[in-house]
Amino acid sequence: VAATIAALEGGEAALVASSGMGSIYAAVMSLVEQGDHVIAQHNLYAATTKLFRDLFPRWGIERTLVDQTQTEEFAAALRPNTKLIYLESPSNPLLHLTDLKAIAELARERGITTIIDNTFATPVNQRPLEFGIDVVVHSATKYLGGHHDLMAGAVVADRAFIKRAWEFSLVSGAVLSPFDAWLLQRGLKTLGLRVERQNRNALALAQFLEQHPKVARVNYPGLESHPQHALARRQMSGFTGMMSVELKGDLAAVASFIKSLRLAECAVSLGGLTTLITPVAAMWSHQHTPEQRRAIGIGDGLVRISVGAEDERDLLADFAQALDK
Ligand code: PLP
Repeated sequence: VAATIAALEGGEAALVASSGMGSIYAAVMSLVEQGDHVIAQHNLYAATTKLFRDLFPRWGIERTLVDQTQTEEFAAALRPNTKLIYLESPSNPLLHLTDLKAIAELARERGITTIIDNTFATPVNQRPLEFGIDVVVHSATKYLGGHHDLMAGAVVADRAFIKRAWEFSLVSGAVLSPFDAWLLQRGLKTLGLRVERQNRNALALAQFLEQHPKVARVNYPGLESHPQHALARRQMSGFTGMMSVELKGDLAAVASFIKSLRLAECAVSLGGLTTLITPVAAMWSHQHTPEQRRAIGIGDGLVRISVGAEDERDLLADFAQALDK
């Protein structure tokens, strides 16, 4: 299964882990040590943020968090001891993009390693190694598995990086079980089919929601209104099944809207065959205080939608009736 994922990303080698965070931890911690400096984005999956923001200072690793949409912030953050630049694009949950080619160039000429979390895009929509990024990590729990029935992670890089990360991961213990590896191999067989359909459904839903009077904003890179739509067109071949939507309402309005949905289910995780929706402010309350959450642009009305492979008409009808209620 590791060889399949390496081939999908166009990398030399891969390792698999028992969760996305298991793979992120192995990739990052097999590389950095006390005294190193790391540049990472403000907007990342919440547990990844916690690793950089809260744990690194305890271990004597310096870090600077930057706005991923501003390439010059990465350049300004560089230090002589910068070892790693860590990216996620599109990012969870705001769908901000990072200019992969520009960041890879910045890092390469200084011998700095770049890692990207490619979970939201999948290799069907974005192949970061082709832009010069060194390492790709995945929560394979999501699109790669595709059925909401397994947990796994993956790292793709050159052989030397994977060997070192694998040795680290044997110690950290996040190794993938044989059964989940088998489920993941099954899921990968339909990755292309699923993602193509989810891309299409997501664009249709994003266009519908964007013109709805109860919606303040739709964050979806496939929309022309996305501030980085031109960059999305340059570095992505499809725009993913993920989006987030700011509803015109408070936490209670969001809860009532989600309750009214019949097809889309309220649950964590993403990337599987069925549509899932989450109230972001409530879901991430363990990792961010309300102030930290608002500071990175996550308002009370934000919902994250992982669009499934259902019939497009059923999906739009479900969201329409729930918004009406
Ligand atoms: N990366 C991203 C972008 C995610 O959305 C998640 C989980 O939601 C993870 C990593 C962590 O993956 P896992 O839940 O498999 O540990």
